[in-house]
Amino acid sequence: MKFSKLFIPTTKETPSDATLPSHQFLVRGGFISQTGAGIYDFMPLGKIVLDKIRAIVKKEMDETLANEVQFGFVTPLSLWQESGRASTMGNELLRFKDRKNGEFVLSPTNEEAVVNMVKNRVTSYKDLPLHLYQINTKFRDEARPRFGLMRGREFLMKDGYSFHSSQEDLVREFNLMEETYKKIYTKLGLDFRVVEADSGAIGGSGSKEFHVLANSGEDTIVVCNKCDYAANIEAAKREKKLYNFESLELKKVETPNCKTIEEVASFLHIEKEQTIKAVIKKAIFENSSKVVLFFVRGSDELEETKALNSIGALEIIDANEDEIKSAGLVAGYCGIKDLPKDILVVVDSELENSKGLVCGANEENFHLVNVDLKTLENIKYFDLIAVKEGDICSCCGGKLSYTKGIEAGHIFQLGDKYSKAMNATFLDENGKAKPFIMGCYGIGVSRLVAAVIEQNHDEKGCIWTKNTTPFMVDIIVSNSKNEEEAKFGEKIYNELKSSNIDAILDDRVNARFGFKIGDFELLGFPYAIIIGKKLLDGIVEIVDRKTLLKTEVKVEDVVSEIFNLIK
Ligand code: ATP
Ligand code: MG
Repeated sequence: MKFSKLFIPTTKETPSDATLPSHQFLVRGGFISQTGAGIYDFMPLGKIVLDKIRAIVKKEMDETLANEVQFGFVTPLSLWQESGRASTMGNELLRFKDRKNGEFVLSPTNEEAVVNMVKNRVTSYKDLPLHLYQINTKFRDEARPRFGLMRGREFLMKDGYSFHSSQEDLVREFNLMEETYKKIYTKLGLDFRVVEADSGAIGGSGSKEFHVLANSGEDTIVVCNKCDYAANIEAAKREKKLYNFESLELKKVETPNCKTIEEVASFLHIEKEQTIKAVIKKAIFENSSKVVLFFVRGSDELEETKALNSIGALEIIDANEDEIKSAGLVAGYCGIKDLPKDILVVVDSELENSKGLVCGANEENFHLVNVDLKTLENIKYFDLIAVKEGDICSCCGGKLSYTKGIEAGHIFQLGDKYSKAMNATFLDENGKAKPFIMGCYGIGVSRLVAAVIEQNHDEKGCIWTKNTTPFMVDIIVSNSKNEEEAKFGEKIYNELKSSNIDAILDDRVNARFGFKIGDFELLGFPYAIIIGKKLLDGIVEIVDRKTLLKTEVKVEDVVSEIFNLIK
């Protein structure tokens, strides 16, 4: 390809909302163009990268003998009513009506569509397993689309769905997908981690996420310094921290102006570990909302996704002062004893059977001491805490710490949630009708374009990995008006092309050398060959984009030198 023929509108302007390097450089490099909140067009360079990633994903998926299909981007709402998700999916599901008042959605994911495709077509265990996948546009009306391609509303996803006659066979496919995903991210040249994940609203059990490690990642990953354990903080576990406090008689004590755990602990001369903390939230359910009280040890923090899962709500938000008051609670002095009857209470599992604790007395300026949780009835215990750095790994005793990740893929063991709801069955060996056992597997294809750059860039611009770069070599003709230089550029370009090396020739007559180099640094192709004044002495330069180091090479060696570098 020639620069003069390719539409690459590079610019020095950085969009005002672009905080991440990938967002800034992809826009400035003319890879993508924003048309609305969370909606991006791919310009030629962006499209080449997207297609390269897509091709790697497709090749590895086909290798597993999964079948590629394509679902309609628009799905009738009726399918979503069948599965029940029309009412649970919330505002991320964009709905609309056609001219005949028929209701439709823009597919945010395709469990319903795939069940509809397979239902009544696969009828026997003999036809299982089956894995169908597509690489197609999704739309999710994200509350806060941001970070460019990272969290768009319209984006490209590889979504696969497998059907099985048994749980064991699902686990086999799940493991195959884990291995396949590892191959894909390795081919993309990414530093990634496979982590235990929360299964979220999609339901089912057993799920793993694939995270591209990058400081800007939205997700916190808990990793062990000794073993392979890694988990999203939403699902992370630690070795239980257990304490044995002496328990004397239950007493109410005056604690004037002690609203925080720190204030209470220091006033009563105890450690924060001996206190329990109430976190008041409002839970939103399908048809109602309710104030909920979560209790964790005073030295711990509540993990919101775990809290959400503990009560099966659609969402939890902070409760405001009025809601707290009308629920009969006293902010700052909220305790676990003698609560108003209809309050939903969940307590962290590590507190089970604890005694000698301090908590609010549900009365302004008073706390209870020597609280024994064993004496309380009907308490629901659930893992609620956010694992902290320095906590102990429950697998090996190692130390846990945090790292940041970009979620680039997610695989789930779904079970029969969708097949059951949509009445999709097969006949087993005994001729008995059973709902399909399903798995689903997603890869954020367009998010990966951004993730590659988030992990690989410097202050000047992008640094593409070898399998994602639009071009491997940028042949920079310093002065395209100089006939010798232009001719030699053309010659090298043709030689690289015939050796199947993706090269782009910067043949722009009206661009000065500094501008061409600036574009090379911004666009991030792995290597440049600079053809300049030394051509007269039979010398050109090769630049490594990663290190920006320049090496002089003889003109007759330049192609073989590039060959060596690429290998
Ligand atoms: P997240 O927690 O980041 O919202 P998710 O759990 O909603 O992700 P899945 O439903 O598992 O994501 O979708 C599969 C993959 O699609 C994700 O792993 C991610 O890489 C990608 N993806 C999800 N939402 C978006 C988005 N808004 N923009 C771009 N890619 C996305
Ligand atoms: Mg999401």
